[in-house]
Amino acid sequence: MKHVEEIIESMEYIITLKEKNMKNWEEIFPSFNSLARESYKELKKFNMIEDMKKILSYVKPLNMLPPERQTKRLNNLKTSLIDLKNKYLISQTTNIKENKLNLFTDIKYIKHVGTKRGNLLKNLNIENIYDALYTAPRDWEDRRKVKTIYNISDGETALIVGKVANMDEVNINKGLKIINFSINDGTGIMTISFFNQDYIKNYLKKDTICAFYGKAEYNFGQKQMKSPDFQILENKNNLQNKIIPIYPLTSGISQNIMRKIMKQINPQIYYLEEFLPDKFIKTFNLLNINQRLTGIHEPKSSYHIKKSLITFKYEEIFLFEYAILNSKKKIKKHLKGYSKNINGELSKIYINNLNFKLTNAQKRAHIEIREDMKKESPMNRLLQGDVGSGKTAVAEISIIDNFEAGFQSALMVPTSVLAKQQYQKIKLNLEKINIKTELLIGETKEKEKKEIKDKLKNGEIDLIIGTHAIIQNDVEFKKLGLIIIDEQHRFGVNQRLSLIQKGSSPDILVMTATPIPRTLALTLYGDLDVSIIDEMPSGRKKVKTILNSDNNLKNIYDFIKDELKKENQAFFIYPLIEESEAIDLKNAKDMHEQISKIFSDYNVGLLHGKMKSVEKNEIMEKFSKKEINILVSTTVIEVGVDIPDATVMVIEHADRFGLSQLHQLRGRVGRSSKQSYCFLTTSSNISKETKTKLTQFSANNDGFKVSEIDLKWRGPGKFFGTQQHGIPDFKFIDITEDLKIIEEVKKYIEQDNILDDKKIIQEIKMRFKNSTELIKAI
Ligand code: ADP
Ligand code: MG
Repeated sequence: MKHVEEIIESMEYIITLKEKNMKNWEEIFPSFNSLARESYKELKKFNMIEDMKKILSYVKPLNMLPPERQTKRLNNLKTSLIDLKNKYLISQTTNIKENKLNLFTDIKYIKHVGTKRGNLLKNLNIENIYDALYTAPRDWEDRRKVKTIYNISDGETALIVGKVANMDEVNINKGLKIINFSINDGTGIMTISFFNQDYIKNYLKKDTICAFYGKAEYNFGQKQMKSPDFQILENKNNLQNKIIPIYPLTSGISQNIMRKIMKQINPQIYYLEEFLPDKFIKTFNLLNINQRLTGIHEPKSSYHIKKSLITFKYEEIFLFEYAILNSKKKIKKHLKGYSKNINGELSKIYINNLNFKLTNAQKRAHIEIREDMKKESPMNRLLQGDVGSGKTAVAEISIIDNFEAGFQSALMVPTSVLAKQQYQKIKLNLEKINIKTELLIGETKEKEKKEIKDKLKNGEIDLIIGTHAIIQNDVEFKKLGLIIIDEQHRFGVNQRLSLIQKGSSPDILVMTATPIPRTLALTLYGDLDVSIIDEMPSGRKKVKTILNSDNNLKNIYDFIKDELKKENQAFFIYPLIEESEAIDLKNAKDMHEQISKIFSDYNVGLLHGKMKSVEKNEIMEKFSKKEINILVSTTVIEVGVDIPDATVMVIEHADRFGLSQLHQLRGRVGRSSKQSYCFLTTSSNISKETKTKLTQFSANNDGFKVSEIDLKWRGPGKFFGTQQHGIPDFKFIDITEDLKIIEEVKKYIEQDNILDDKKIIQEIKMRFKNSTELIKAI
């Protein structure tokens, strides 16, 4: 006997078959008719007879209609099938009267829970009723169809129903006792085995009718199930043949207990109020809150599960994007920026005097930024581009535009080393246009600091470059119009807000050299507009990346000697500064000694994070002036360093680094028109997955590709320190897969202009309670 879902699916199947072969319409009615007859009992049980008759009356005259009417009729038929699905395969909202509980009721007060289990459930992030309802099962078991013992195949997981015919016990040894029951369902015999569970004898007496759900095995011609789930039945009609959820578990909470707990909680679903806008549900054809929650906890059909899961994706991303866009709109609404008067004469002069031509991507980004700066609402834009793609050039041009309009600019970078480097370069470039530039970092002498602050206040400085110090409270500007934040990854939504809420509303440009896949950019930076530089300056050669076992180091050394002879320079990178007892890895200090011996004709420098920043600067300066030929370092050189003649990088223990980090490191070479090389060395016994991952990395030079690969391997949670960035751990949305949904929802919210909806904001607070930054921003 077929069940309802199969009947409807069969009807759909018949239609698609016929659609593919439009000529044979005569056959469609008999197929439907026989399906209806075959399923009569089931149709009756579900009061579906009337609906089925209606459908048959649609189908019957099909082959007599002219072709265009046939197509029309067929479309009607399809709509009717969708109606059928919604009517019979999805739970309808019912009004059941059970005691309504507060959603925040501590889970320990629920029957079957208590203090001890309540604490265990916290491991699953379940603290109250609400959390429990939003804990999705990890899978479902379809127990709607009873399989006969005769028909069951080896390895199949299924439900059987039969009578206990026999029982015997086998004592294998002191610790192990097996109890075997023979079950007869009229088509065959199956052995059901339990291990050390004596109490089961009290339930499964001779002639008891019982349902078993488990995996069938064939052993020496006998069919067997080991420790299946079972349910004792008075008679066969009492069978609870439903789809049963399988919940994620934590030690101390069994599947059975979890189901019992959820059974207590599930009636609360019917008291929940919808918070998604009606129009949103209609637009995307989603289930309402009662339907979608029953759809995972007490599904009526697999269609019901599927529809629910899709709805939850929409729901989850709706809440997230709402939170983000709500804060964005707040910024736009409450803060008036400056509408800047930029005619572009100055930047034109500057661009014409560059000794290179801007790439199209750079031009595009510049125009987007300029248009933002002309608008009255403050700019809030992310400039994304691979290492070396020329973001700094775009920043400089924007600073010039801002200067031309009569405003001061601030450029903020994460470290003082980098601040100095940028200062030296940018000051030189912008002096020609009469832009007065100063540096302000932690180590700036007090007297000088005071002078700089005074000048900023008087408007005698046009551009200030520095670390966080430049936006501290005691720094005042005469007319700050543009803040550029380089390497944004330490700068989340909330910090941007606090910066803006200080009172003035300058334009903000955030630059990142960590290319982020488009999906992530959309979710992460929903509050930012995004410009992408997806094109490298011409003439750049790709860095050749070579994966090597560390047995091969001697050849690499020889290779480097050749490069050094050509006046080129090299990096060696290690994961550790010094020897560690915890892990046996090469470290920068020891290797510095070794490499100095191997390359005794050259100067070998050492750089690591424990050095004072003055020392670090000194080393970098020497490397930059080629007084040092080889630099042995940890990852401190990761950001921003520009050494055009560095053509080789050796990264030892490459498997210890994330791909995005490797890409950042690799970006330190290949910064000129010379061919550069990156050797990744690992021990020869790395896992197959690691090897595949590093091989994929070696084949890809494009930062966007690398970050996509990285994201795939690591999963969104670990890709970035989630909390810090305000991306919650999504339960339903997969940000690597669900790009289309994310875009649709974002667009919907942007256009719909729903702001500050109390119900929605309340829901966001419950759902993303662990993402403090996100919560603070709304
Ligand atoms: P990013 O900040 O994106 O890492 P930079 O702006 O520091 O990149 O640029 C890297 C190098 O490339 C710099 O030396 C810069 O002068 C140069 N450069 C920038 N744009 C171009 C271009 N369009 N053509 C050639 N060289 C460029
Ligand atoms: Mg840069």
